[in-house]
Amino acid sequence: MDARIIWTCKKCKFDNPMGSQNCNNCGCKLKTLDFGNDNVVARWVCPQCGGKNMFDNDTCFNCGFARSKSNCFLTTTVCSVLRYEDNCYALENLRKFRKDYLEPNKDGQDLLIEYKQISDIVVPKILSDKNKESVCEYVYKNFILPVNKLVDSQKHKEAVEKYREMVNYFETKYNEK
Ligand SMILES: [Zn+2]
Ligand SMILES: [Zn+2]
Repeated sequence: MDARIIWTCKKCKFDNPMGSQNCNNCGCKLKTLDFGNDNVVARWVCPQCGGKNMFDNDTCFNCGFARSKSNCFLTTTVCSVLRYEDNCYALENLRKFRKDYLEPNKDGQDLLIEYKQISDIVVPKILSDKNKESVCEYVYKNFILPVNKLVDSQKHKEAVEKYREMVNYFETKYNEK
């Protein structure tokens, strides 16, 4: 189960899916999102109860669902910007890789901790990046697809390396290093 990410139109308060550039209700354009102040408009939707949570809350205000259980925020973000379904092959495959390989291994656990810290910072930046579609296309082609291929051919170590490269790419791109 993945948490979806939505942005709320400032004008009409309609909740829009992350991939849309214009409000699906009133048509006004998505402007740079303001994070970290009263105007926060991006939220994540709890997959368990549908509660809408502020971005920096790690657990659902309503049912306590831990966001970290809902997997890869970064890859989910990339795929939803590109309008891929939440149950698309790439995400399902990565979810399985995470559960079967990353979570039980020390190397993988370290990576997941780093990944979580980075995705908290980077996801809002992707959302407000006016070039987010091309950024996400690049990431999908150069990291997500190759990781999937490596996972498919059981090359787990190489898959972890590729995964790490993706995290590094985002860190560097958004100057968080
Ligand atoms: Zn609107
Ligand atoms: Zn909830």
